[in-house]
Amino acid sequence: MHCPFCAEEDTKVIDSRLAAEGNQIRRRRECASCGERFTTFETAELVIPRVIKSDGSRQPFDEQKMRKGLMHALQKRPVSLEQIDAAVLRVLSKLRGTGEREVKSRLIGEMVMSELRDLDQVAYVRFASVYRNFQDIAEFRSALDTLDAATEQSPA
Ligand SMILES: [Zn+2]
Repeated sequence: MHCPFCAEEDTKVIDSRLAAEGNQIRRRRECASCGERFTTFETAELVIPRVIKSDGSRQPFDEQKMRKGLMHALQKRPVSLEQIDAAVLRVLSKLRGTGEREVKSRLIGEMVMSELRDLDQVAYVRFASVYRNFQDIAEFRSALDTLDAATEQSPA
C-alpha cells in the first residue's frame, strides 16, 4: 500500500490486530521514506448479489421473501425454525460465495430447492411445482423421478 503522505510504495505493517469483534483487521503502517504512520482497515466483502428477474429487471436480494417462500413450502411439516434458519444461512453464504454482483433469480430458486430437498421432500415438491411452474405433466414427473432417485440413494 502506498504512503498517503508522500506516495512512497514501500510501507511496513508495524501492528496488526482484530477489531469490530473480529470482523475487521486493523493495521498500523509506517512509511519507510517519510516515517509517517497511518492505519488501514480490512473487512471481508459481504455483498449479496442483486437479483436479475426473468423479465431482465434488477432487484436487491430480499432475504425475508426467500424465508417466506421456505416457510410456506414447509407449512405443517416436521421441520424446525432452527433448520429453516440454517438453510437460509447456507443459501446466503452460497450467494456471497458466487462473488458475482448479480445473479439470476433462477439460481436462487435452485439453491432454495436443493435445501428443501434435503429438509423435507413434501415441501420440496410443493415448492418445485409452484416455483418451476411446470409446463406439463412430463416435466413434473421428471422432477419426481429425480426425487425418487435421491431417496433410493439415501435410505432414511
Ligand atoms: Zn511517506
